[in-house]
Amino acid sequence: MATNDLPPVVRRIIHVDMDAFYASVEQRDNPELRGIPLAVGGSRARGVVAAASYEARKFGVHSAMPSVTARRKCPELVFVKPRFDVYRAVSRQIHDIFARYTTLIQPLSLDEAYLDVTEPLLDRGSATAIAEEIRAAIRAETGLTASAGVSYNKFLAKMASDHRKPDGLFVITPRMGPAFVETLAIGKFHGVGPATAAKMNRLGIHNGHDLRQQTREFLQHHFGKAGDYYFNVARGVDNRPVNPDRTRKSVGAETTFERDLIVWEDAVPAMAPLFSKVWEIVAKSGRGGRTVTVKVKYADFRQITRSRSCAPPLASLEMFEEIGLELLRPVFPAPEGVRLLGVTISNFDDDTRSHPAQLALTLG
Ligand SMILES: [Mg+2]
Repeated sequence: MATNDLPPVVRRIIHVDMDAFYASVEQRDNPELRGIPLAVGGSRARGVVAAASYEARKFGVHSAMPSVTARRKCPELVFVKPRFDVYRAVSRQIHDIFARYTTLIQPLSLDEAYLDVTEPLLDRGSATAIAEEIRAAIRAETGLTASAGVSYNKFLAKMASDHRKPDGLFVITPRMGPAFVETLAIGKFHGVGPATAAKMNRLGIHNGHDLRQQTREFLQHHFGKAGDYYFNVARGVDNRPVNPDRTRKSVGAETTFERDLIVWEDAVPAMAPLFSKVWEIVAKSGRGGRTVTVKVKYADFRQITRSRSCAPPLASLEMFEEIGLELLRPVFPAPEGVRLLGVTISNFDDDTRSHPAQLALTLG
């Protein structure tokens, strides 16, 4: 790390991202699924595509798409159920590969991580050489392909890994950074979701070039704290460190109702989006949560919580919903009125994350 008597170091960051991760694991493990449009996820009415194979993507099928829509776009689409235990095991494998090169590993989800290799444990002469070695090791040891982006900050490394997908590598040097950002469509910016992209478009911002024309004050006015981030990344600047200790202790969602709820029949549909939202975040992170907590706030602001833990981590949205609804059932009917309901998953196993954080701590 840079100290006071040394000039600031240009950081070397790698972003590694497995290609169509869940779908590729399924195709690896079942030859019958290879070469066909495949979706991992539930095929039922309320199901959502968790991952789509590249064959399915040609039809416009992508992750987070409702299964009903996916099937309409691609009638021959084959659905398979996710096997999170297998994905977690592969995630540990790739994490072990990363750990050969650096202790500064920040997983974003089961199949994606930032690595700071400014001062690597194994020096290969350049971050690019390390990234190529990691991709080769992943292929040899897991039978799966990964793409990598190499740059001088997290934002550009992330954008770079997407640039030559699948099975590709792309490097953005400090000289290339600002020009690369100029051409990026605003919806491609990491940290700009669909709602923000729509708002940017309404403000006349369609790409990095447009974003760069805006003042910091303008962006802060319209986007609050995120405005600063947008102002910086539009210039290829991102000083966020690779942070190996980023574990959230719980993931929850709650909603306040316009009219107080009294009967169970109204509570069940009100809870459905909360379960989906929380489950989506937890499933994406790949962490196994064991405790479900529901929160009830009555019209008089009195609040209660009810929790239950299970021995193996929650395996599905259905299991999560079942436990959550069981906890909530005795609360209704609630003649005094319920103004808010919430649900949380906590007590994560975190086996893929606790090691690098501890290691980084002991090395200071
Ligand atoms: Mg991926």
